[in-house]
Amino acid sequence: MKNLNDFQEEIYKCSRCGLCQTVCPVYKVTLNECSVSRTKFNMLNGILKGDLTLNKKILEYMDLCLGCNACKEFCPSNIDAREIFTAVKAQYYRYKHIPFTNSYSFFKMLLITAGAALIVYRSLKLDIITNKLFYGINNFLLKRILLFNTLAKKLLPNHTKKTAAHSQKTKKAVFFKGCFNNYINNDSANAVKKILENTDIEVIEKPFECCGISLLSSGLEKEFLKIAKHNLSLIPQDCDYILTDCASCSYVLKSYEKYVPSDITSKVVSILDLIKDKKISVVKEKIKITAHKPCHDDFDFITLLKNIENAEYIEAENFDKCCGFSGKFALTHQNISREISKRKAKDILQTGAGFVLTNCPACKLGLNQGLIELNARKPVVMNVAEFIAKYCEVK
Ligand code: SF4
Ligand code: SF4
Repeated sequence: MKNLNDFQEEIYKCSRCGLCQTVCPVYKVTLNECSVSRTKFNMLNGILKGDLTLNKKILEYMDLCLGCNACKEFCPSNIDAREIFTAVKAQYYRYKHIPFTNSYSFFKMLLITAGAALIVYRSLKLDIITNKLFYGINNFLLKRILLFNTLAKKLLPNHTKKTAAHSQKTKKAVFFKGCFNNYINNDSANAVKKILENTDIEVIEKPFECCGISLLSSGLEKEFLKIAKHNLSLIPQDCDYILTDCASCSYVLKSYEKYVPSDITSKVVSILDLIKDKKISVVKEKIKITAHKPCHDDFDFITLLKNIENAEYIEAENFDKCCGFSGKFALTHQNISREISKRKAKDILQTGAGFVLTNCPACKLGLNQGLIELNARKPVVMNVAEFIAKYCEVK
């Protein structure tokens, strides 16, 4: 992984014009200049000149960022703030003892515990009961329970249907399910399998770990490299696709080659990419849909949504701006995250759509977080693949 010194020229390119301030979602909520990339570059400049040292306080400022890269898109010098902040965090942690609570083992333990708790929670129908009791009450804890309920809700049955005969399958896709499907709620994985069941694509599953996005963005380099190598070792050489149902997984898998020798980038595809040329139609009554485009997404699923027959796509204001969740940020900066999600949800409600579609499980949480803040039970938040598998016909 690179060091701060490797970005010296990039940082010097910053003219302090302040355009990044106008788009930074964290700044818009906090009005804290330290959240803006220009100010962070000033601090990093101080370290490069030897006036400041890379310490815990500086790291806190690097963490005051969603990694949405809105600033890069707007920056006249096209400076990749997300990459620079990640490298700085990695440099800080490189020779430090990493506490267990920051390790991948701890993260995995939390996922397994949450998954097990959800099975019990679902079977006791606690999600249904608490949804009835808690909606509309402005209490932080109750709103957290309502958000947890969105993880419990099952939209699709487990996919058990036999797929087409092996001989009819001419292509192989190794399915990178991601940790949400593995531990929390496998609706999206069921949707992928259902969509591909009658195609010529064979779906292969392997015991992958998480893609590593939270480790990468936290600068936990050793832990990230360990799981990246593990995941890469499981990818069959002869597969045609490395299939994902999540924009963040796609983004990280495509980034592996920056950190570990690999040649998988060209094979990484979204399930939506595989069906973009098919005719997709909503089967029953006409449905109004809107969308949220994840910050990490590089596949244009909005065009796909606009082409779904019997669905009316209504574009939400700021549909491509960050939902405010961004993994660990939602835990470490809860109030900022909730406020950004709330603003996002206001734009979505304006559309009057019955469904808001996205392709990242963390964004689903961000959208639900915002809607719950506004006491809104609708629209229903779904992954695009889940929506297609549940309501559409694909030919
Ligand atoms: S938009 Fe780019 S050049 Fe302008 S202040 Fe921000 S980081 Fe610097
Ligand atoms: S990446 Fe997003 S949150 Fe971070 S400084 Fe840039 S605009 Fe702000």
